[in-house]
Amino acid sequence: MTLSFPPFTEEHALLRKTVRDFTLTHLTPHRHDWDKDGEWPAREMFKKMAELGLLGIRFDERWGGAGLDWWAHAAFIEELCQARNGGVVMSIFVHTDISTPVIHEIGTDAQKEEWLAPAIRGEKIGALGITEPGVGSDVANLQTTARIDGDHFIINGAKTYITNGAFADFIILAVRTGEAGFAGVSLVIFPTNTPGFSVGKKLDKLGTRSVDSSLLHFEDCRVPVKNLLGSLNGGFLHIMQNFQGERLVAALMATSGMEIQLQDAIEYGRTRKAFGKPIGVFQVWKHKFAEHLTAVEAAKLLTYNAVQKIQSGEDPTREVSMAKLFSADLAQKVAYDCLQFHGGYGFIEEYDIARAWRDVRLLPIGGGTSEIMKEIIAKWSGL
Ligand SMILES: Cc1cc2nc3c(=O)[nH]c(=O)nc-3n(C[C@H](O)[C@H](O)[C@H](O)COP(=O)(O)OP(=O)(O)OC[C@H]3O[C@@H](n4cnc5c(N)ncnc54)[C@H](O)[C@@H]3O)c2cc1C
Repeated sequence: MTLSFPPFTEEHALLRKTVRDFTLTHLTPHRHDWDKDGEWPAREMFKKMAELGLLGIRFDERWGGAGLDWWAHAAFIEELCQARNGGVVMSIFVHTDISTPVIHEIGTDAQKEEWLAPAIRGEKIGALGITEPGVGSDVANLQTTARIDGDHFIINGAKTYITNGAFADFIILAVRTGEAGFAGVSLVIFPTNTPGFSVGKKLDKLGTRSVDSSLLHFEDCRVPVKNLLGSLNGGFLHIMQNFQGERLVAALMATSGMEIQLQDAIEYGRTRKAFGKPIGVFQVWKHKFAEHLTAVEAAKLLTYNAVQKIQSGEDPTREVSMAKLFSADLAQKVAYDCLQFHGGYGFIEEYDIARAWRDVRLLPIGGGTSEIMKEIIAKWSGL
C-alpha cells in the first residue's frame, strides 16, 4: 500500500503486526477446512483474540477496550482479511463491529458491565438480529413484537440470516414495541439462554460457509425491561447509525480482499505458462490487472475518506454508502477476473480464489444492498 493520505502511525503498525501474526498463525491455515466443515472454533478464537486486546479496539478502556481510533480499527480489519475466509472474518466483525458497538454507544453502565465487558474479554459472543423472513431492506416494517408485561418484554417473532446466531450468547434484537413504521422500533439485548428461543434449520449458503447465518424463532420469550437499549421506540435511529460502522467494515473487507486476490493472481501468472509464456505477460491480462489495481486504489481512497469522516465525528452516511456501493460492486468484477485468470484451477476449492468468489457475493447484499446504498446516496445528494 503506497498511499500517504491515511494517517497510519507506528502504533498502528505494531497493531497490524499483532493482528497479522495472530491471523496467519491461527486462522489462515484452517481456511479450507473450516469452510468445508461449515463451522469454525469461534469461542476458542475469540478468547485468543481477547488476550491480544483485539475485541475492543475502539472501545473505552473502562470496559476493557483499547481506546484507539477508527484508523486503528481499519488496520485491524485489513490485516484480519489475511484469514482468506469471508465466513470467519464476518463472524469476528459481527462481534466487534455490528453487535457490541451498539452497547458501547448507547448502553447504560450496568449493561456495559453485564454484556460489553465480557464480550471484550471474549467470554460472551454477540450477534445482531434485524432481518426477518418477510422484511429485510425495509427495516422500519419489522414485525417481531415485544410487549411489556410488568418488568419484562414478551418477545414473539422470527429473525433470519443472523450471523453468529446459532452460538451467540446475546443478540442485539430489533423489535416492534410501538406503532407501525420506524417510530415503533426498539433495541433489546436478548440473552440466548431465554426459554422460548430456538435456532432453526441450518441455512445452506452460497458463501461465507464457515459461520452460520441462522433462522431464529422467539416464542413468548421473557426478557427483563432493563435490557432495553436506548429509549423505547427510539431504536430505528440507532440501527441506522450502527449500519455506518457495519457498512464501512464491509468496504474495508472488500478493498483488502481485492488486494489479496490481485496479488495472488499476479503471482500465479508468473509461473503458469501457456503457448510457451507465463500467462501474466499476455497484454490483455496486464491491462485488465492495471485497470483493477487502479480501481481498487480508488475504492481504497473512497473508503479511507469514509474512515476519516466517521473518525471526525461528522455524519458519515453519504461517504460510507458510496464506499460500500463502489467497493462491493467492484469486488464482484475483480473476483470474477482473478478466477478466470486461474483457468480450471480457479474452479477448484484448493485455490483461495474459488472461495473468495463465493464469499464476495454477499458484499452487495449484506448490511444494506447496493440498491439501498444508491437510494441513500440519492437522498443525501438532494435527488
Ligand atoms: C450471509 C448473510 C448474512 C447476514 N447476516 C445478517 C445479520 O447478522 N443480521 C441481520 O440482521 N441481517 C443479516 N443479513 C441480512 C441482510 O442484511 C439482508 O439480506 C439485506 O439487508 C437485504 O434484505 P433482504 O434479503 O430481505 O432483501 P429484500 O429487502 O427482500 O430485497 C430484495 C431485492 O429488492 C431490492 N430492493 C428492496 N427495496 C428496494 C428499493 N427501495 N429500491 C430498489 N430496490 C430495492 C434489494 O436491493 C434486493 O435486490 C445477512 C444476509 C446474508 C445473506
